[in-house]
Amino acid sequence: MKKILQDLNFTELEELVFFYGEKKYRAKQLFEGLMQGKRISDIPISATFREALLAKFEDEPVKIRETFVSKEDGTKKFLFELADGNLIEGVFMRYKYGNTQCVSTQVGCRMGCKFCASTLGGLVRNLTAGEILSQILVVNRLEGGNLKDRAVTNVVLMGSGEPFDNYDNVIKFIKNASAEGGICISPRNVSLSTCGLVPQMKKFAEEGLPVNLTISLHASSDEERGRTMPVANAYSISEIMDACAYYFKKTGRRYIFEYTLIAGENCDKEHAEALAKLVKGKPCHVNLIRLNEVKERSLLAADEKAAYRFLGILEKNGISATLRRSLGSDIGGACGQLRASYLEKKAPPI
Ligand code: SAH
Repeated sequence: MKKILQDLNFTELEELVFFYGEKKYRAKQLFEGLMQGKRISDIPISATFREALLAKFEDEPVKIRETFVSKEDGTKKFLFELADGNLIEGVFMRYKYGNTQCVSTQVGCRMGCKFCASTLGGLVRNLTAGEILSQILVVNRLEGGNLKDRAVTNVVLMGSGEPFDNYDNVIKFIKNASAEGGICISPRNVSLSTCGLVPQMKKFAEEGLPVNLTISLHASSDEERGRTMPVANAYSISEIMDACAYYFKKTGRRYIFEYTLIAGENCDKEHAEALAKLVKGKPCHVNLIRLNEVKERSLLAADEKAAYRFLGILEKNGISATLRRSLGSDIGGACGQLRASYLEKKAPPI
């Protein structure tokens, strides 16, 4: 595989331009073109420079291979193809306050959560910072956005992969996505979701990046959490709570707990009370979501009534909480569902 030009920040592009003996202004041209989601071959630079770049760098590191539009809510799901033929997916959601894109950070995942489709074939490889960024750039372009008037305004790192299992590339992505003159997505508009890798959570607290940190909790005791999340055997809930407290101390930012409601597992009255007790008084918010059922998995979604009862108990206990709508369920909106269906059909050459 060739290199990914979108991995480079502006200073690195300037160095590259200098190395090729090109005029300095070419760096700005190149940077703008890339950030507009263009292929190298579509950027108006000299033919010799373009050829030299194409010999080393991928023309289009992330291609949209298919688009699915939800009839229910207009949510779009994209199947992207990487230069080595691997597939990843992303979701584009329209909200009142702006448009959110959900991006992948890895091909597959090795965390093994029992409810998640992304982890079905294990981890294939990490994405580079430029491959993560390109998912946004190509969708922004496709949706009619540009660098002044963006179609993508918010980003959630909730596609396939565990962002903290690909730490350096994810940090580089967050920095490059917010760079001046680029797509300018402020870290404040980025949400990073982790299954709770404690050492990286602590390290992240020191990065000085005002990202919204989300922790996938899904249970209030280690024993119950371990039933669906193997990572619970490596890090206990109490270690996660300590890391969250450290994060708040360092950044002054509230954090969010993600809690997926699974029938017969974690959504009874007692579970809600245990969760309320666990998070009470902490500077956090709880996001509840009913399981998006994955056909390869036997777990079932909690019904709506149980979900509202759960929310009611949290609220009665003074916990800040919301029950999120599950968007795009008719197009396989949950992590990894689309790719999994492709792997099953063995359509792509993986
Ligand atoms: N690896 C990261 C990001 C994964 S996806 C993490 O674990 O947080 C983002 C969220 O979707 C996580 O909270 C994850 O637990 C949840 N999720 C995964 N599969 C789901 C499903 N089938 N239904 C509902 N939520 C799901």
